[in-house]
Amino acid sequence: MTDYPDTLLLIDNEWREAKGGARIDVVNPATGKKIGQVASAKREDLDLALAAAQRGFETWRDMSAHERCGIMRKAAALLRERADSVARLLTQEQGKPLVEARGEVLAGAEIIDWFANEGLRVYGRIVPSRNPAAQQLVIKEPVGPVAAFTPWNFPVNQIVRKLGAALATGCSFLVKAPEETPASPAALLNCFVDAGIPKGVVGLVFGSPAEISSYLIPHPIIRKVTFTGSTPVGKELAALAGLHMKRVTMELGGHAPVIVAEDADVALAVKAAGGAKFRNAGQVCISPTRFLVHKDVKAAFEQAFIAHAEKLKLGDGLTEGTTLGPLANDRRLTAMDKIVKNAREKGARVATGGERVGGAGNFFAPTILTDVPLDADIFNEEPFGPVAAIRSFETLDEAIREANRLPFGLSAYAFTRSIKTAHELSRRLEVGMLWVNQPATPSAELPFGGVKDSGYGSEGGPEALESYLVTKAVSIVGV
Ligand code: NAD
Repeated sequence: MTDYPDTLLLIDNEWREAKGGARIDVVNPATGKKIGQVASAKREDLDLALAAAQRGFETWRDMSAHERCGIMRKAAALLRERADSVARLLTQEQGKPLVEARGEVLAGAEIIDWFANEGLRVYGRIVPSRNPAAQQLVIKEPVGPVAAFTPWNFPVNQIVRKLGAALATGCSFLVKAPEETPASPAALLNCFVDAGIPKGVVGLVFGSPAEISSYLIPHPIIRKVTFTGSTPVGKELAALAGLHMKRVTMELGGHAPVIVAEDADVALAVKAAGGAKFRNAGQVCISPTRFLVHKDVKAAFEQAFIAHAEKLKLGDGLTEGTTLGPLANDRRLTAMDKIVKNAREKGARVATGGERVGGAGNFFAPTILTDVPLDADIFNEEPFGPVAAIRSFETLDEAIREANRLPFGLSAYAFTRSIKTAHELSRRLEVGMLWVNQPATPSAELPFGGVKDSGYGSEGGPEALESYLVTKAVSIVGV
């Protein structure tokens, strides 16, 4: 028995089968068993969704910011009310422990509320004119219908940050959500339908990612593209968007360094960075990966970090007490095997874990690799799984050089009792986000995004709204 529903497409506030009835299977990563299906959109469905998004935009754009805020806040309240049932869907399709799934849904409601309120503060300005008879206005307007592409690691929250900013600024929003985790995104969007959002303002499709993106991005109705996923796919989509002069936000891969300085609170570093490492089984773009630990505290750090990893309870996310779920799909399992094998071959030591657990489900033991050479894959490629790699350093310069060596620049963590070191790191690390003496705290009001190959644009703070707005200069002379 399962309480997991099949998922349809959302077009014009109606849940519809795809034309021709094509569907894709959905599998529970904890059991490997099929639990449901999702409708797979064809060109005809996309045309309907695009036309709806255009009509939805024309309605939503002309409503007052206060009315939009009211509907968004009502949707957030519904999401909060439904948190338990949405979290159950999320855990069944994605694998993360139920408590993490519930946390994701509740954080989603908070993010929607924040964007709803921030939409009331989209101000233009009045610029003194050289001609006293003229009034010069700078007006901010919504860019238009948005095409969003979101991944499976946070099925709800990857949508929420894009949706929140788009709706708050008056844009309509058509999202291609992940086929592997479709039900929780559908439950999220259903909150907006039930909150009374006008038809066409939000739309949801699934299908072949490449077919959908190659049709939506160049389409004249779409005026802005936002993507979260891997750097290679992001580069392709950004290039296509560039060709068609579309606004773009790209939230791509990361490879977060964690600098544990000689004066660090080691217990805090293990608790904060260790917690961050294994959250969502490491399938997080801001997951800490390269642990750069000062040689004087390396032994103490390693010992405590191994103990932390070995205390985690691996299991089905629906089982009470599980603190580490399965990987979301079998591609990740293959990737973990490969990355650990490569590290071993390069001379790293597997301090704990290092292998798949059990035969059914995508379970991989929490893994710590130590004394990892710089040329091991794990020190260069995003692992996107529950594997941490440790190296020691002697000087802060050396740690900063290593932190900045990779083309990624999303997030970093540092642990130090020295304010001077904290300031130096905040100046010199090439990242979009830095957390010092704490786990990641990506709240709605702070910018969220990266530099270098980790992408551009922001998914938090007022900067997030800015990327859904266009600026118009108007000069009026009364006659
Ligand atoms: P992938 O690179 O094929 O897909 C990543 C995401 O992009 C998926 O959601 C997929 O549906 C989407 N996608 C792929 N091709 C697309 C296209 N042509 N048009 C539109 N969307 C497209 O591989 P994957 O196995 O799903 O994930 C592997 C890697 O992706 C991970 O190792 C990680 O580096 C990255 N990833 C990053 C995030 C993130 O939060 N930044 C989330 C998920 C995956």
